[in-house]
Amino acid sequence: MKIILVEDNDAIIMGLQYLLEQEGYTFQAVRRRREAERMLQKEQPDLMLLDIGLPDGDGYQLCESIRQQYDFPIIFLTAREEEEDVVHAFDLGADDYIIKPFRNRELISRIKNVLRRGSQEREVLQCGNISLDVESGRVRVAGEEVALTKLEYKILRSMMSYPGKLFTRDEILSDVWDLSGNFVNDNTLSVTMKRLREKLGDTEGRIIKTVRGMGYRIESQR
Ligand code: CA
Repeated sequence: MKIILVEDNDAIIMGLQYLLEQEGYTFQAVRRRREAERMLQKEQPDLMLLDIGLPDGDGYQLCESIRQQYDFPIIFLTAREEEEDVVHAFDLGADDYIIKPFRNRELISRIKNVLRRGSQEREVLQCGNISLDVESGRVRVAGEEVALTKLEYKILRSMMSYPGKLFTRDEILSDVWDLSGNFVNDNTLSVTMKRLREKLGDTEGRIIKTVRGMGYRIESQR
């Protein structure tokens, strides 16, 4: 687990480096907003600790720009007089905040909470014996992984995200158009749906129902 600290106070950097490495985290500190943005282009942390007052901007701006691209958790480090502004931080997508000076124990427990929350939200769509892990892109049928093409995966993911919803053929076609860059015609769609059903062991269309003359629907089931 890698934690990045964005903070310009050396004492805090040193303290946290010691604390977090002792707790088994990989730790890296940057002192400026720019530096943080540059680093994120190369790799993202599992969690970011973010100071509000930075030499070249503030943590809010950084948080806002991060949220346009990334969704790793962010905990603000805030001075007591900034506490009221923290509501603003939540609006921008922060996950938590802690007031400086903080006790090490408390910070560690906040970090663990936020990381735990993140892993629980890991999205696995479930429908009957089919599971689709949004993060890893793995699809399993009764626990067995099945290999889907990009097109099949995209269609299945859309449909599993909205069980019970009717997906018209036109909707699916326009949805997959961007993905393939190739012309996907009505016939290709029928063939794709047939293959997808075969792979899911659903040749009879019990899971992916055909709505005659309209499109397809995945039944919502426990
Ligand atoms: Ca500062």
